[in-house]
Amino acid sequence: FAEMQVLGDATRVHARDRPGAVAFEFEGRITSFAQLDAHVNQVANALIAAGLKPGDRIAYVGKNSDHYFELFIGATKAGVVMVPVGWRLAGPEIAFIVNNAEAKLLFVGPELVDLARANIGELGRGRTLIAMEPGSNWPTFEAWRDAHPATAPHFSPAPSDVAIQLYTSGTTGHPKGAMLTHSNLLEGRRLGERHPMPWNEWGPDDVSLVAMPVAHIGGTGWGLIGLVNGARGVVAREFDPLKVLDYIEKDRVSKMFMVPAALQIVVRQPRSREVDYSRLKYILYGASPIPLDLLRECIELFGCGFCQQYGMTETTGTIVYLPPEDHDPAGTPRMRAAGLPMPGVEIRVVDTEGRELPRGEVGEVSTRSYANMTGYWRLDDATAATIAADGWLRTGDAGYMDEDGYLYIHDRVKDMIISGGENVYPAEVESAVYGHPAVAEVAVIGVPDEKWGEAVKAVVVPKPGASIDAEDIIAFARSRIAAFKAPKSVDVIAALPRNASGKILRRELRAPYWADRARQVN
Ligand code: ATP
Ligand code: MG
Repeated sequence: FAEMQVLGDATRVHARDRPGAVAFEFEGRITSFAQLDAHVNQVANALIAAGLKPGDRIAYVGKNSDHYFELFIGATKAGVVMVPVGWRLAGPEIAFIVNNAEAKLLFVGPELVDLARANIGELGRGRTLIAMEPGSNWPTFEAWRDAHPATAPHFSPAPSDVAIQLYTSGTTGHPKGAMLTHSNLLEGRRLGERHPMPWNEWGPDDVSLVAMPVAHIGGTGWGLIGLVNGARGVVAREFDPLKVLDYIEKDRVSKMFMVPAALQIVVRQPRSREVDYSRLKYILYGASPIPLDLLRECIELFGCGFCQQYGMTETTGTIVYLPPEDHDPAGTPRMRAAGLPMPGVEIRVVDTEGRELPRGEVGEVSTRSYANMTGYWRLDDATAATIAADGWLRTGDAGYMDEDGYLYIHDRVKDMIISGGENVYPAEVESAVYGHPAVAEVAVIGVPDEKWGEAVKAVVVPKPGASIDAEDIIAFARSRIAAFKAPKSVDVIAALPRNASGKILRRELRAPYWADRARQVN
């Protein structure tokens, strides 16, 4: 890794050392490292020929594709910043990000061409549109790329240059453009080499499944980890549980990252009982809290190593990990933890004034490391409110650290419910209710209450054919957690509102109850 200072070094080094090895596999299209390295140079030269300058932005709106990674690495070789935009967003939301980033070129996946056309007034303004696949009358990516030479461009980005601008998931409000540098993206790999962790070690036979959307750090970051380590990356256009099972069996996937909501869909497929998981070494999961019962179900089904990841867009993904050895289904309390800081990462739990709290006390999680973003694009106030002058970044998550240095994430500070003066964290209540046999999914929110200030409410999605008895759910929760944390009421809903990262949009569930008053959050 010493040779890898910027992302473009990764394709160059692997192309030199293992030119014929497969870098990406996407729907039957195979790209070797030699081809990938040539393609990224072509992309860089094409961007330079189009007049783009270092620091300019380009946007990608589409589902996952191997070509997205070519475009991303190629852009960084010209100093151009990639802005991937979530394809599940609505037209105006996509336009907000593309315009906010001031993207010069817009690359559109085939599924998004109609949407781009419908919003062309907003999206086409002064920018060239390029189609990722043939089928529209716009220039296509391959033709555009292949019109330029495969020689390395006359430009060298610095490790401290911004490589990607990733918008936060927008769970708590408007998405914000977190600017991440080459070293943000690469430094963790170098540290990993000095502090080997088996789940994070890669060999030439490793196959990585990239099935989470690339507009989030869990998709792009995971794709890069495999690429930098020279693994074969199997790119899934989108998350499809049956295809995931196929990739595991037929493409011999050895490592994959998945959010809990996706894992839950996979384990509920009857077909999941028939698959051969012997090649699967590790499943990395995270990005939102995981119910304990679901985690146990996964451990039993897949029989591989598990490693939790805690982090955020602003920290280039993982900063805390729960090692495989702490996943004892017999149920050590550790399985509830998010885990230990990654090497080189500092974690502190602080009070509202930013003072460090003693071990065991709940406060806001803050962090300092090589992985912290440089800031939010064009949001100086939000940046200053998030990262202090001394480099400590406030995560907005509530949690505590135990005597052994394990971090436990309760929930977002803003989602904490204050009921009768007691703090209740939705994720803990959700984990308790999730185990009820009639419950498929559950979200917990605070609703206004005369007596308690806020009262805990569970919003549940029943399992197919099951009926929900509120009293029974409440009694079940009370048998597993303290009475003051158990729901006081239960609503039934057909599906939970989630964003593309599978995160529950609790603010949407809360809104009707708080329509006529302001909710106090710290
Ligand atoms: P926005 O910042 O726009 O509201 P977001 O915070 O959901 O959206 P992301 O950066 O994708 O955007 O998500 C980071 C957040 O996800 C963390 O702050 C935390 O709340 C949650 N999270 C990540 N990993 C875990 C984990 N292992 N357990 C519990 N929560 C997690
Ligand atoms: Mg956030």
